Amino acid sequence: MSDLLVKNAGLVGGGISDILIKNGVIADVGPKIYGVAIGFPVIDATGYLVTAPFVDSHFHLDATLSYGLPRVNQSGTLLEGIKLWGELKPHLTVDALVERALTLCRWSIARGTLAIRSHVDISHPNLLAAEAMLEVKRQMAPYIDFQLVAFPQDGLLRADSMDNLMRALDLGVDVIGGIPHFERTMEDGARSVVMLCEVAADRGLLVDMHCDESDDPMSRHVESLARETTRLGMQGRVTGSHLTSMHSMDNYYVSKLLPLMREAELSVIANPLINITLQGRHDTYPKRRGMTRVPEQIAAGLTVAFGHDCVMDPWYPLGSHDMLEVASMGLHVAQMTGIEQMHHCFDAVTHNPAKILHLPDYGLHKGCNGDLVILQANDVVDALRLKPARLAVVRRGKVISTTPAVKYDLTLDGQQVQTDLTSTDLVWR
Ligand SMILES: [Zn+2]
Repeated sequence: MSDLLVKNAGLVGGGISDILIKNGVIADVGPKIYGVAIGFPVIDATGYLVTAPFVDSHFHLDATLSYGLPRVNQSGTLLEGIKLWGELKPHLTVDALVERALTLCRWSIARGTLAIRSHVDISHPNLLAAEAMLEVKRQMAPYIDFQLVAFPQDGLLRADSMDNLMRALDLGVDVIGGIPHFERTMEDGARSVVMLCEVAADRGLLVDMHCDESDDPMSRHVESLARETTRLGMQGRVTGSHLTSMHSMDNYYVSKLLPLMREAELSVIANPLINITLQGRHDTYPKRRGMTRVPEQIAAGLTVAFGHDCVMDPWYPLGSHDMLEVASMGLHVAQMTGIEQMHHCFDAVTHNPAKILHLPDYGLHKGCNGDLVILQANDVVDALRLKPARLAVVRRGKVISTTPAVKYDLTLDGQQVQTDLTSTDLVWR
């Protein structure tokens, strides 16, 4: 736990403030903070944007950085990815899983992502991935807040995984997962939702299911998820991840579904990078985008977050765990280019996922954790546009990552000109 004064912080809502952190907690936020002792650690943000850390609410840490093992996904489809992961599983070791995950954690910290909810495959009785991810969570606890989701990748009923799931929870895995659309029948999918929600209610745990990750408009397990949430009194504690079938559903049915989701206070996590690459694969043209109905869900009062989902794994060959890349893709896919909508997209990788994870003391107010990121951007639109350098990443008052500001020196007609691509260059500012 450390002390730090961040001077001249550009705030997400506008304006410039100083932020004082004492013993790892934000002690004061104000226009000018004076009176700190000589030698007190100080950073000058020089007006650049300062945000609470990025939060990735949907990730697969056990599969990350395994791209090409044992072979690459040639079709690029979800189903070949699941098959490929199945081929890799017999060759996994705890040590290799931990090593890859720790590498990813270094990338996350460099990008300013200090909270991650990761789904962990519990389909195999040896629970090797759970063991490895619990070790990573323990090692990274000073730097990253991890939540682990017991995820029956091969289907709760289809692969008879309930016993594995219960044992994973006993080991310390935090959240109940599921994959109802991957069960053998619609009825089995609905039954898996009931069974998993009852375990969550019984144990007082949060729920986050891969739900309706399909272009099939008849994949309606989100309806069961909302129903069970309301029946069991778990409003505000349950999340539907992906919900891509909503893209293809009949508008009339969606007009009934959204109020049910609102009644259940269901949260939504879209995964724009993955949804735009994996969905619509059976289409010729026109080709569906496949991402869930984000603007309509926001308008219905639901909490919506964007997750990264994958980095260099059987499902996605790209990525560097940059949540601004995720927000930018979400903005484009959902056509959210209005100013307020762009702010929604920034919230979808900061405050909204923090709410979904029930993260305590998250934010830049007095009393919050002394965690923040200084971006080489003047405002939120700059951040989304440039995905700029994370000049400093601070955890509990301690600087844990720095990057030099990027400046471009041009020689034009013998004149030296410098630009950093930010909106400072614009004449109307
Ligand atoms: Zn996922």
